[in-house]
Amino acid sequence: MPGNVSYAPSADGAARVAYRQASRLSTLRGETMGTTWSVRLPGDAPALPGLVSALEHTLDDYVAQVSHWRPDSLLSRFNRAEPGSAHVLPDAFAAVIEAAIAIARETDGAFDPSLGALVDLWGFGAGERLDHPPAAEAIDAARPATGWRRLRFDAVTRTLVQAGGVRLDLSGIAKGHAVDLLGARLSDLGLRDHLVEIGGELRASGNRPDGRPWRVAVQGVGADAPPTGITIALRDQAVATSGDYLRYFDHDGQRYAHTIDPRDGRPVDSGIASVTVVHADCLHADALATALTVMGADEGFSYAERRGLAALFLLRDPIDPRHPRREVIRVKPTPAFLTLSSHE
Ligand code: ADP
Ligand code: MG
Repeated sequence: MPGNVSYAPSADGAARVAYRQASRLSTLRGETMGTTWSVRLPGDAPALPGLVSALEHTLDDYVAQVSHWRPDSLLSRFNRAEPGSAHVLPDAFAAVIEAAIAIARETDGAFDPSLGALVDLWGFGAGERLDHPPAAEAIDAARPATGWRRLRFDAVTRTLVQAGGVRLDLSGIAKGHAVDLLGARLSDLGLRDHLVEIGGELRASGNRPDGRPWRVAVQGVGADAPPTGITIALRDQAVATSGDYLRYFDHDGQRYAHTIDPRDGRPVDSGIASVTVVHADCLHADALATALTVMGADEGFSYAERRGLAALFLLRDPIDPRHPRREVIRVKPTPAFLTLSSHE
């Protein structure tokens, strides 16, 4: 089919890669971190097979370092390591842990990269999913193993010390970081105009083929929801969304979603359906979206306003208190977000 070519899977056969040439826009695709990645570039993706394997290599290398879904990753080995053991981290792992600790400090622990034990306990980790909350005693028993202040990281020697039983979980930041790593790889290869996406987290650099900024649409609430109708122009910026509607379970009329409030060890129930953050890099957009979700509709919104963050909150407003499931979604942008967005 002219202008629409599918390539055979690359070296390890893992990725499904499609190459489409339409309106002078090439799209590369594959799978990583339990989701999909895509890269959009103007024109014919040059030297395509080499480019795809370069991007896959970047992703595979990162996953081998920080995935808590892989028992053999460096992160999983750290999580099992002896108390007091010191671990010299490779570049990407060191960069993400340093940033994660800084964001934990800035958000007063709303974002916390050390919640692995609780995330697993609630069934949002690598183990089995649950359809009911764990016992209160189990939550109390898991909490002492958590807490970002227990992470001892020396940025100069890139050494992280296992305090004992600490289980890192970087799922709230790693996709965003991986988007940045792909963007950096493309720029290194001289491909400055690009739009990178992993599982809905995006980063734009340069322009679209028509010379205008990349534009992205903010999705609605839920897998089949209509779009919000809000689009954002991204100028060398990234965007990430945390939502309560992709990973959750319902029990006794209550929704338990995958973001944990470190203050009580339970899923947050803040009336936030999703938070979208636009930031200079995707690592921060991703982690801050998670942090604002934990802070909740009021505190999170004022935090974002005070810091001049561009954030869009989609809030669940009950229509009738007797029927908590009957709700409207209220859209609440920060002033900084309004300068980026438009209705189309
Ligand atoms: P996704 O983009 O996969 O929907 P998010 O960026 O919203 O994920 O992050 C949610 C994930 O982060 C959870 O599945 C869990 O693994 C982890 N997590 C949960 N609570 C927190 C928290 N308070 N701080 C940091 N990470 C968290
Ligand atoms: Mg996040």
